[in-house]
This record gives sequence, structure tokens and C-alpha cells, in this order.
Amino acid sequence: MIEGGKIRSISSSPFDIRKAIDAKGLYVCPGFVDMHIHEEPYDEEKDTFQTDTFISMLRMGVTTAIGGNCGGDRYKEVSGHQILEMRADAGHLLDIGCLGISYGIRYIPGITKEEMMTISQEAVRTETFIAAHIRDDAKKVFEAAEELLLLGKELEVAVHFSHIGSMADFGQMRGF
Ligand SMILES: [Zn+2]
Repeated sequence: MIEGGKIRSISSSPFDIRKAIDAKGLYVCPGFVDMHIHEEPYDEEKDTFQTDTFISMLRMGVTTAIGGNCGGDRYKEVSGHQILEMRADAGHLLDIGCLGISYGIRYIPGITKEEMMTISQEAVRTETFIAAHIRDDAKKVFEAAEELLLLGKELEVAVHFSHIGSMADFGQMRGF
């Protein structure tokens, strides 16, 4: 039974309904959530997103997509003061509706533990989560995964792992 645009109930017994939809040969499922996209071209001048990608995603059943993941390249280390400024910015953005904090840990020169621990405090405060492009892949994937697991454990915050590549399981399947 669909009510208010959502699947409210599934049963093999008939429902008392107003309108029946013949879905024979089709699938009925909730909208998919894509937790990690990089197809979010943003036009700063117009303050809009390019939407043709979103139309394609909708045709695939994706009704919610989360962009802005993985941060970006930066080529110099940040100061303690800058880390505090980033924490304040992250806190403000979470307060006005962002769903979590993401890090591009792998991007040069990476991110220090101090930086992650400090900024992540805002995810703890707002009971949101951390998403991160893990630091390494292939032979170092377990070490990279452990870094994020420990962050989540120490702060008691949920973490979402991004970009564990196909090379991570090459010869290491038993570890997974
Ligand atoms: Zn990514």
C-alpha cells in the first residue's frame, strides 16, 4: 500500500484501497539514496547546481543524493588557528542543515589526526556523521580503515568509508 508517496505496507492480502496500480512485471521499491556523488557541478555566480545529472539519477531510482564528499586538494598544511576556524565553519553548516562532515584524507598532503579530531567534534555535538575518503588502498587499506574506525570509536560518532578500491581485496579477501 502506497500512502503519501511512500510504501506504507506490504502484504499478500488485498488492501482496502482507492486506486490500484498494475505493477505486474515491475518492481516497487523506495527511492534509492546515493551516499556519495561527485556529479555536483555548482555554479557560484548563479547559486545553482547543474541538474541534468540529477534527472538521470532520478530515472535510475535515486531520489536522494549526497554531494560534496571527499573534500578537495589543498597543498599546504593548516595552522591550529585555521583548524579552529574550520571547526567553527563546520559547526555552523551542520547547524543550518548539513548532514555530516566529509574529509578527503587521501588528498595531498592529507589531514592530521588533530585536524580530524578537532573538526569532528562538531559531528559529535550535532549527532551527525563523518564521511571520509580513506587514506590508502591496496596493501595499506586495513591500516587506513583502522584510522577511521578508531576515530569513530574514540569520539563515538558514526563514520562512512569512501573509496575502498578494488585493489583493496586483491589477495586480501580473507582479511575482509
Ligand atoms: Zn569521493
